[in-house]
Amino acid sequence: MPRKNELERKALQIILEAGEDGILQSEMWKKLGVTSREGSRLALKFEEKGAVVRERVLHKGRWTYKLFSQTKLVSLESIRDCPCIVCEGLDKCFSGGQISPIHCQQLTLWMDPSLADSIE
Ligand code: SF4
Repeated sequence: MPRKNELERKALQIILEAGEDGILQSEMWKKLGVTSREGSRLALKFEEKGAVVRERVLHKGRWTYKLFSQTKLVSLESIRDCPCIVCEGLDKCFSGGQISPIHCQQLTLWMDPSLADSIE
């Protein structure tokens, strides 16, 4: 049986890879090769740490839990249009610098286009 930390890392990876569909708690412990008791203990521990959300679901006539990772996979596609990528001031832009991401309107609008009317 893998060491405790390795087991937790593997469990979190399984839950993360399940993505937005989540994974039934029973599927997680079967994939891990642990008992239902150990699987439940891990799921509870992850929930307490805020790494996982457990949602009660009815599956094949029985109540169980579905696990959803609070960590999301990020793709390069998600930052494709980020203005920083082509910004001429990138190498001078830092918190506390002359130009800063904290006060950058371009970045703010890219993150939340709904603010377009409130930023001039
Ligand atoms: S935060 Fe603004 S100023 Fe800074 S690198 Fe990004 S786009 Fe350029």
